[in-house]
Amino acid sequence: MDKLPEGLVEALLAWYAANARDLPWRRDADPYRVWISEIMLQQTRIEAARGYYERFLAALPTVEDLAAAPEEQVLKLWEGLGYYSRARNLHRAARLIVEKHGGRLPADLAALRALPGVGDYTAGAIASIAFGLPEPAVDGNVLRVCARLTCCPDSIGEPRVKAACRQALREQYPPGRCGAFTSALMELGETVCLPGTPDCPVCPLAGMCAAHRTGREADWPVMPEKKPRRIQARTVFLLEHEGRVALAKRPDKGLLAGLWEFPNVEGALDEDAVLALARAWGCQPEAAVPCGDARHIFTHLEWHMTGWRVRCAAAPELFAWTTAREREEGYSTPSAFRFYKDLLERSSS
Ligand code: SF4
Repeated sequence: MDKLPEGLVEALLAWYAANARDLPWRRDADPYRVWISEIMLQQTRIEAARGYYERFLAALPTVEDLAAAPEEQVLKLWEGLGYYSRARNLHRAARLIVEKHGGRLPADLAALRALPGVGDYTAGAIASIAFGLPEPAVDGNVLRVCARLTCCPDSIGEPRVKAACRQALREQYPPGRCGAFTSALMELGETVCLPGTPDCPVCPLAGMCAAHRTGREADWPVMPEKKPRRIQARTVFLLEHEGRVALAKRPDKGLLAGLWEFPNVEGALDEDAVLALARAWGCQPEAAVPCGDARHIFTHLEWHMTGWRVRCAAAPELFAWTTAREREEGYSTPSAFRFYKDLLERSSS
């Protein structure tokens, strides 16, 4: 990636001062709050994160509170946001911050980077926004802006392009205004220099942007090739016994680790197979009725689910047998199962 254009910082900061959106995490540069917001925003849209952010901080207002919270509470506060390893890493990192750093996030890039769940991007965001250090935070938005400004010919999926972008930005960071510069770059990528068609007529950098000069702004950035997602059929069991429904805990490692789910298996089972499996689990099934199909998309995987409601005469200890209220208050279930959760709620109300 080439050098970034002269005058970038002044133009961008002036635009940001006049156009910054009022977002809850921008009202306070407290390192803990910046950290929580950056982790939440990693894979979540701003509008979706807003409510979660406020709820999370109301429940756990300090690093110490987060460190002392039971994991179930942290996961419950995260329920519906997806990518639950983020919540688990936050929790582990909070304990480390209390043990090693006296309960304060370290004002140092390497020490931030050493925390679980904190990569180059998040470390740069916290360092610049919360501590005013000249450390860039390069995510997809910032890469896109910089690739367009310079007509970067290489794929932004290449680590060396990201590293070059970070270096080019580091040379620009204005002392005393590092946090605003990081936020301004993100804001431009989120609101003006959009992935599909950028809104160049309102862009403060239009006069210095190489892609804009060509008139083919959407040709940049050069994107990495996408791998197709793997599709997996699954059968979901709503096992019901005397008004209670079975939940199973997922393993502590891997996809959706440690969360509670309706028992489910790979493959699209027919009625006989559903009854046979419920019998093998010790549920003494009396009847199985199909209750609808649902899909859920993970980053590299797509679940195509078929659901069955199974009336059971027994409630084996293999599962937790839960009421609607217990599921709502005490069990974190991933949004992959929302369709079935809603279906049960509708039929119990
Ligand atoms: S001029 Fe257009 S392409 Fe260039 S940075 Fe601005 S919005 Fe992006």
